[in-house]
Amino acid sequence: MKNHLIVITGASSGFGAEMAKTFNAAGNPLLLLGRRPEKIEALPLNFENVMVRSVDVTDKAAFQAAIDDAQAAYGPVDLLVNNAGVMLLGNVLKQDPAEWQTMLDTNVMGVLNGMQIVLPQMTERQGGTVINISSLAGKKTFVNHAAYVASKFGVHGLSETVREEVSRHNVRVAMVAPGAAETELLTHVTDDGALKDYGAWKQTMGGLTLDPKHVAEAVAFIYNMPQEVNVREIDIAATRQD
Ligand code: NDP
Repeated sequence: MKNHLIVITGASSGFGAEMAKTFNAAGNPLLLLGRRPEKIEALPLNFENVMVRSVDVTDKAAFQAAIDDAQAAYGPVDLLVNNAGVMLLGNVLKQDPAEWQTMLDTNVMGVLNGMQIVLPQMTERQGGTVINISSLAGKKTFVNHAAYVASKFGVHGLSETVREEVSRHNVRVAMVAPGAAETELLTHVTDDGALKDYGAWKQTMGGLTLDPKHVAEAVAFIYNMPQEVNVREIDIAATRQD
C-alpha cells in the first residue's frame, strides 16, 4: 500500500507529526494538514511526494479543496487519519463556553467533515480506511475534562456508527484511543487549576507518559492489516496509567 495517498490532519506536532514521519519512511505520498504549515515544513521528511496545506478542519470547503488537489496529484485517498484535536481543560462551573465550542467543532465536526469528504470515493471504489484519533477520555471520565470527554465519547459513537454504514463496501473505520502523552496538547489550557490537577495526576504514574511514536505505530498497525481485516480500536497508554 506504499504508493497510496495518506492524509493526516494535525500533522504539525505531537502524534500527527510522528505519523507523518512513519508513513513518509514507508514511501506513501502524503497530504499533511494543519493551521501552521511552516511547522509541518520543518519536519524531518523527504518532501518529494508530500503536499502541505494550511487547513482548519472546521472549514469543510478548505479541507475538501486540499484533498481534491492531493487526489489530482496522487490518486484517491487510501487512508485518512482524523488526528487534529484540542483539549482545553477546565471546571464546567466556570469554563468559558467558547472553549467547549472549540473542542466540539474541532474534535467532532472536524472528524465528520473529513469522513464526509473521503468516504464517497472509498465506498465507490470498495476500499480505503479512516482512522479517528479518539482518547481514553472517549471511554471513561476525567475531572476537568467535561467538554473534551463529550467530544471524544462523540468520536467513539460516530466512528462505530459510520463503520457499520460503510463496512459492506469494504471500507474500514477504526479508532486509536491513546492515554496521556506530552505533546503540545496541554499548552493551550487556560485554567491553571486544571493544569495543576493534571500535574498531580501525572505523578500517580511516576511522571511517565506515552511516547507519541507508539501512537503512530498503532495507526500503522491498523492500516497495514489486509483490507479484509479491521482492527476496530486500539487503546494505548503508558503501562502505569490507571
Ligand atoms: P498537539 O497539540 O501536539 O497536536 C494537535 C494537532 O492538531 C496540531 O497539529 C494542530 O495543528 C492540530 N489542530 C488543532 N486544531 C486544529 C484545527 N482546527 N484544524 C486543523 N488542525 C488543528 O496534540 P496531540 O498530538 O497530543 O493530539 C493529537 C490528537 O490526539 C488529538 O485529537 C488529541 O485529542 C488526541 N489525544 C491526545 C492525547 C495526549 O495526551 N496528548 C491523549 C489522547 C488523545 P495546528 O495548530 O497547526 O493547526
